Amino acid sequence: MVSWLALGWAGAQTIGEPLPAWTEGTLDIHQINTGRGNAAFLVFPDGSTLLVDAGALGNRTERHVAPKPDDSHSAGEVIARYIRRFHPKAESAVLDYALLTHFHGDHMGDVTAASKPSSLGPYKLAGITEVAEHVAIRTMLDRGWPTYDYPAPLQGAMMDNYRAFLKWQTENRGMKVERLKPGRNDQIRLVNSPAKYADFEVRIVMANGEVWTGVASDTRHHFPPLSEMRPDDRPSENPCSAGFRLSYGGFDYFSGGDITGIPEPGAPAWHDVETPVAKAVGPVEVSLLNHHGYIDSQNVFFLAALRPRTWILPVWDSAHPTPSVYNRLRSTRTYPGPRDLFMTNMHPANRIVTPGLDQVASQQGHILVRVSPGGGDYRVIILDDSAEINKVKAVQGPFETR
Ligand SMILES: [Zn+2]
Repeated sequence: MVSWLALGWAGAQTIGEPLPAWTEGTLDIHQINTGRGNAAFLVFPDGSTLLVDAGALGNRTERHVAPKPDDSHSAGEVIARYIRRFHPKAESAVLDYALLTHFHGDHMGDVTAASKPSSLGPYKLAGITEVAEHVAIRTMLDRGWPTYDYPAPLQGAMMDNYRAFLKWQTENRGMKVERLKPGRNDQIRLVNSPAKYADFEVRIVMANGEVWTGVASDTRHHFPPLSEMRPDDRPSENPCSAGFRLSYGGFDYFSGGDITGIPEPGAPAWHDVETPVAKAVGPVEVSLLNHHGYIDSQNVFFLAALRPRTWILPVWDSAHPTPSVYNRLRSTRTYPGPRDLFMTNMHPANRIVTPGLDQVASQQGHILVRVSPGGGDYRVIILDDSAEINKVKAVQGPFETR
């Protein structure tokens, strides 16, 4: 058997050098740090691609980190160029799928007075619509298509712009749009060689409070019917977030948007979405923190049920994470064994405020989880985010999967 090294396998990263290109059989999960919201770019083992969110915050306060690599380009442009750099097909890149976890600016892009018009259709460029200006999206997945009315009609400039974008793209570019189907493992598929990677799966775990049970593709409605809720108990946008579990051989990854796990005092217990989600997902190797590690997230049950070796935190605010969340996350009373936290962009104020945060595995940079062919182990690779060459800053692992 020829060794992977002899073939120049994507596992041969060198610090200070550019990242070796993705190769067939490898799974790449990039968290792109723009400092303006979440964006994850995934290259599946057969080269199929998925973008999860394309955040572009509209306003900036002292609580927010600085844009990366600088403020000369919008977040949407930075994301699109990053995708072209690391996509197997580079300049002819298309996205097989793009998924919005929920409809907030740090995940889909705020429309502001500064948003430029599209050169394609009658809509503005912000976040996801700007990515699509440069990299075509074949299938768009979100929690609201086609009615966008749960738990109430979704309105405002950002949603109006997004719907104008979908209308133009479906009518003129053949884009498909689908509402996310919780419980299903056949909505996001390998599009190139599915038969070759039978142990690869993307399972939609939840959206709109409908949560997979962990059995077949069954779901249950975690939220009570709208008619039985007090109006002020209605779920906000965050607990309606969509999320998924990706599995490849022994490797499992969870991405849960901004779901919440700790209800506000006096709020109904069903505002905790993390607990039913955690029951279905079970142990994973790598997980994103929910809701950027904010005060209402990462309850003890969720931490103990997923018990990942690797936590990844997409950051843009000084409260990402809050001290209470970090305290729970690092406690070996929650679950035994080592675990690391990788942050895309620690706010300097949080380094002072949160005990222990200055010792996390990474404070700054794009974060790539690169899973070896077959899913037997993975590495966490930090890429320099100060320039668009993205040299390798650090490599941790390999970590064996279970
Ligand atoms: Zn968010």
